[in-house]
Amino acid sequence: MDQSCACSVCRRYSRAYIRHLYNTGEMLASTLCSYHNLAFYLDTMRQIRQSIALGEFAAFRRRYLDRYGSRDRLAVSQGLDS
Ligand SMILES: [Zn+2]
Repeated sequence: MDQSCACSVCRRYSRAYIRHLYNTGEMLASTLCSYHNLAFYLDTMRQIRQSIALGEFAAFRRRYLDRYGSRDRLAVSQGLDS
């Protein structure tokens, strides 16, 4: 599903197969997506703890936001946009 993810769902199932399951109303689609999402956030939290321990959280934050989100959206959600 996600080539950069090491969870068993991403190693075993294609995005097309999961999309097929979703479109046909199979409950397995939700189960597989939930498994991947939990693995993603567990790994993200592991990386955050590691970056804090190494004193590199600011660099980790920049890389994470460059890849997954906008600093502008984060600023808006934190009330820092003005
Ligand atoms: Zn995954």
